[in-house]
Amino acid sequence: MYFDVIIIGAGVIGSSIARELTRRDLTIAVIEQEADTPFGISCRNSGVLHSGIHYEPGSLRARFDVQGNSMTESICRDLNVACRYTGKITAASSPEEVSQLYRLKEQGEANGVPGLEILDNQEMQKLQPGISGIKGLYSPSTGIINPVSYTIALAEHAMQEGAQFFFLHEVTDLTADQDRCRIACSTPKGTVYFEAGAVINASGLSSDHIARMTGWDSPRLYPCRGEYYVLDKRLSDQLNLLIYPVPGAHSGGLGVHLTLTTEGNILIGPSNEYLEDRRDNSSTREIMELLKHEAASLLPTLETGDFIRSFSGVRPKLTPPEIGGYGDFVITRQDKFIHLIGIESPGLTSAPAIAVHTAEMVDALLQPKMKQHWNPSFTDTQEIYRMPYPLSHYSREVREEFINRDPDYGTILCRCEGITRSEVISAVKRIKGPVTLAGIKQRCRTMTGRCQGGFCLPRITDILQEEHIEVLWKGPDSPMYMGSLRSEVYG
Ligand SMILES: Cc1cc2nc3c(=O)[nH]c(=O)nc-3n(C[C@H](O)[C@H](O)[C@H](O)COP(=O)(O)OP(=O)(O)OC[C@H]3O[C@@H](n4cnc5c(N)ncnc54)[C@H](O)[C@@H]3O)c2cc1C
Repeated sequence: MYFDVIIIGAGVIGSSIARELTRRDLTIAVIEQEADTPFGISCRNSGVLHSGIHYEPGSLRARFDVQGNSMTESICRDLNVACRYTGKITAASSPEEVSQLYRLKEQGEANGVPGLEILDNQEMQKLQPGISGIKGLYSPSTGIINPVSYTIALAEHAMQEGAQFFFLHEVTDLTADQDRCRIACSTPKGTVYFEAGAVINASGLSSDHIARMTGWDSPRLYPCRGEYYVLDKRLSDQLNLLIYPVPGAHSGGLGVHLTLTTEGNILIGPSNEYLEDRRDNSSTREIMELLKHEAASLLPTLETGDFIRSFSGVRPKLTPPEIGGYGDFVITRQDKFIHLIGIESPGLTSAPAIAVHTAEMVDALLQPKMKQHWNPSFTDTQEIYRMPYPLSHYSREVREEFINRDPDYGTILCRCEGITRSEVISAVKRIKGPVTLAGIKQRCRTMTGRCQGGFCLPRITDILQEEHIEVLWKGPDSPMYMGSLRSEVYG
């Protein structure tokens, strides 16, 4: 199969690039090893739209973060994705940290971050009662986004505008001659081959391995895990904006912080642990205890039952543990290959700006024509899944309107999040690759509340069995059930 451009990886970076490229008259394929998107780093982060105070002026991270921050809101409006500028306080608790705050403000202003202000404790209290710290740096352009819905929307919009996505295709070999690139993929049906005029390597934690397949001596990635706790929505009105500590100079992250999700949960984390295994998304007792302690000091009314679940994400860092800190994004063209290496934070914020930059690199290589017509929005806007929030977030009138259309909008299937049977059914229909429970969860938030699927999982299973769909967790290798007890035991 030949495509003008093939993108490896359907995370937020690959999907943003795919969407940006659909403005051009090109055939585009996205190759993804998982059954769905986002199953990589793009679903395992804080979901923060960073303002740009933390990055060295002149770096790609500073440039793309500030540009991406200002581009994301209108993309979210076009694609009906939840996104909100909450503002953030970086709070200093010692005189040394206060001088660090002034340095961050200066750096932010050099990067073009708007509205930065140093606040004293009294001023901070007005924005966030109970906040501790001598002084704080307020950045109004910091925001929150649902990184999962955002990535799905970018991918689905790219599909609407003509890009083809191939799930369960793992790239195993990559070569090029004078004319074209050749890609070998391992799939459940055997090896599949693709050819392309250009290949974009947006494979996150695998990007250095993939780059080396092309013969380029790529910089190495050092995986660094960040663990989180998710807190109950009961506490959401206790946090008006995001609260960060002043980051240490050699820390691999921005410090353990309190952030809100667009659905109203509070996240505490992430930790900062270098490890060997890039796929190790586990949570450790030691870090969980540490986060519990931090959370209790920041939110005094916290109760044990408020800790709903934990998760972690692995950063693709370019700096080894003995150096720490951050390396700049590496975005480089090697003949017909464009590699994006080390896209750690603020990759989510930077995605639209990285996409424009990468598309311009493709323009230089292939000189494509721009399409006469390109629709920035979805054509199926009336569907429930095109609304930024689950139905339970809307007024009684809106909910009644849906129930009048289809009574299954009145059947609550996930009690914790108030998700209805119809929302689950439309999530199932919407999935383009194999249907998985993880994919349903990501599309309509079932299994994300206090009971973590205890109530809704059997009901979702019933729906899948009615549709004769095998119940898989994340893909063909993770079946949930071994067979039907009634038919096998009782005949
Ligand atoms: C703990 C943590 C917190 C973060 N917080 C923030 C934040 O608040 N704000 C922010 O802006 N950024 C944040 N980030 C960074 C942000 O999440 C990432 O920069 C971004 O998600 C990277 O997206 P990606 O598409 O490059 O990677 P991914 O989402 O991992 O996508 C890469 C894809 O490539 C696929 N792939 C890999 N190998 C192959 C192969 N051989 N064949 C086919 N497919 C392959 C993978 O399956 C994956 O789906 C955070 C990151 C972490 C880890």
